[in-house]
Amino acid sequence: MSPRVGIVGGGVAGLAAAYDLTRAGHQVTLFEASDAVGGLATGFKAPHWDWHLEKYYKHWFESDHRVLDLIREIGEGEEIFFPRPTTALWYRGAAHPLDSPLRLLRFPHLSYPEKLRMGMVIAYLRYTRWWRYLEGYRADEWLPRFMGRRGYEVIWKPQIVNKFGEELYREISMAWFWARVYKRSPRLGYFRGGFQAFVDALADRVQDAGRPDPPRGACRGHSPTGRWWSHLAGDWRRHAV
Ligand SMILES: Cc1cc2nc3c(=O)[nH]c(=O)nc-3n(C[C@H](O)[C@H](O)[C@H](O)COP(=O)(O)OP(=O)(O)OC[C@H]3O[C@@H](n4cnc5c(N)ncnc54)[C@H](O)[C@@H]3O)c2cc1C
Repeated sequence: MSPRVGIVGGGVAGLAAAYDLTRAGHQVTLFEASDAVGGLATGFKAPHWDWHLEKYYKHWFESDHRVLDLIREIGEGEEIFFPRPTTALWYRGAAHPLDSPLRLLRFPHLSYPEKLRMGMVIAYLRYTRWWRYLEGYRADEWLPRFMGRRGYEVIWKPQIVNKFGEELYREISMAWFWARVYKRSPRLGYFRGGFQAFVDALADRVQDAGRPDPPRGACRGHSPTGRWWSHLAGDWRRHAV
């Protein structure tokens, strides 16, 4: 008899695990606390909108091979597109494009030595693979020490605070910051219909993976309200507890 597996959380990680395990023939129960799968990757939509709007702004890098491979594997590769947006910083009432070394040099609110120092630190993070020691540091201590306090306070700190909040930003690991710089690509990837459409497609494939031809595993969904799986049709509903 194949093992029975419980997965706590129906975010992208839980759904991807459910997809792999069901395809491998296991009996999976996915426990989700809320009314919808997708966790942090969900979006929202008014009835007359064509696309969902992200709850939290999202994109993929061209170097995010694992998730891009998963999307292709579930047959949704055509839905990904990679425009090259301009990434800018809103500072003192104006937008400053900051997505190239030249644009950093043109940024008027730091001195040239400050910009040069920051540029060298970003270049180091972009190319070093020696990241493990960074796990021992918080971004809020490592960045000002090496790139200079003013450059950190003007450009990076506001972004980290906005992403993680005033209470938590000091705890963010420097290894996380390294990964953002190391993996970043100029072109950014989006899914037609928004990340919610990707989550829905993945949840659909989890359901398909449980279909008995050829005989494989099955996935049942469980949530306190019993509602989160109800947007999915067919077998999934039958499997739900
Ligand atoms: C502001 C912001 C921007 C981001 N931008 C990007 C980006 O651009 N690109 C990118 O790739 N990633 C981005 N991320 C990260 C990405 O959203 C997450 O890495 C990913 O969605 C996490 O998926 P997960 O399944 O691990 O966790 P989650 O999405 O947190 O899912 C966990 C699920 O578990 C459920 N759960 C929790 N506790 C229980 C319990 N006890 N019982 C049952 N269910 C439970 C929750 O309801 C939730 O549905 C961003 C995150 C944030 C916050």
